[in-house]
Amino acid sequence: MSTISFILPAFNEEENVPKIYEAIYKEVQQMPYDYEIIYIDDGSEDNTLEKIKALQQQDCHVKYISFSRNFGKEAAIYAGLQHAEGDAVLLMDSDLQHPPSLMRDMIAGYEAGYHQVVACRDRQGESAVHRGITNLFYRLINKMSSVELENGAGDFRLLSRKAVNALLSLSENNRFSKGLFEWIGLSKKNIYYENVERQHGETKWSFSMLLSYAIDGVLSFNTKPLRICLYLGLLFMFGGSLYIAAMLGSIFIQGIEVPGYFTTISAVLILGGLQLVSLGVIGEYIGHIYNEVKRRPHYIVGEANVDRSLKIVKFE
Ligand code: UDP
Ligand code: MG
Repeated sequence: MSTISFILPAFNEEENVPKIYEAIYKEVQQMPYDYEIIYIDDGSEDNTLEKIKALQQQDCHVKYISFSRNFGKEAAIYAGLQHAEGDAVLLMDSDLQHPPSLMRDMIAGYEAGYHQVVACRDRQGESAVHRGITNLFYRLINKMSSVELENGAGDFRLLSRKAVNALLSLSENNRFSKGLFEWIGLSKKNIYYENVERQHGETKWSFSMLLSYAIDGVLSFNTKPLRICLYLGLLFMFGGSLYIAAMLGSIFIQGIEVPGYFTTISAVLILGGLQLVSLGVIGEYIGHIYNEVKRRPHYIVGEANVDRSLKIVKFE
């Protein structure tokens, strides 16, 4: 019998932990699969871990990894993928915003041979500003990046063992999952669902976190921003040369004109700004390199009841 691993990152989700368990349990009872439910407690400050331990007492299919502090959802997903033993892995939020009722369709897709079954949400119920910013982000990232990201397709997805191993073979520290899922390729099926409002607890995303996520998304997948700086530099150099040639011409014809204050200030400001932006872009890349070369682990485990001897990942 095949096994399905459920990976549930949870950060301050004490109310949702038992609810999502019940919802999954109800579904898996009707399926011809063995299962494991792996909660990743991402350094929660409430009773999330106690709630998970209580579940684990009553059902041995429940496992958990508890981080020593908050390492972020990406690290939680990575830990889950590393420890999952199933033939297929289902990534899901533990706040019930990813409806467990979709599981059947997702598993049907897996049975049909797809390596990734992606549940995409529409963005109903979100504010117009939020929707606008997200649309802009996707337009931008898809222009700048070599992988095509789809609006609404997130981490709620089922992955075959092959897809999981492919993801684990990418060991970068700065994990931008949305991009990694696309980068590995493999056959993919989309299913669609309506956005669900969060019932308990609150979202962990602030505006500044979203902005920094967006910048990470653009930077971690390509070096196009560097190229854009280069092109802008060339453009200004070319434009500047033309302007100087024109000025020289006019000096020869009409002699030196004193007014030039506006031109000078404009040039200084524009060039200064351009240089700062370019430096910032280069700096971002250096920052990423710095973080990667440290080769720190993605997370530190506080306590866990999963098999600590990680599977050796071999990509076939
Ligand atoms: N989460 C996490 N670590 C974090 C932030 C979030 O493990 O630092 C989990 C959270 O518990 C939830 C999922 O990631 O299960 C999605 O988070 P959230 O609901 O805040 O994001 P949203 O649904 O608003 O995009
Ligand atoms: Mg949520």
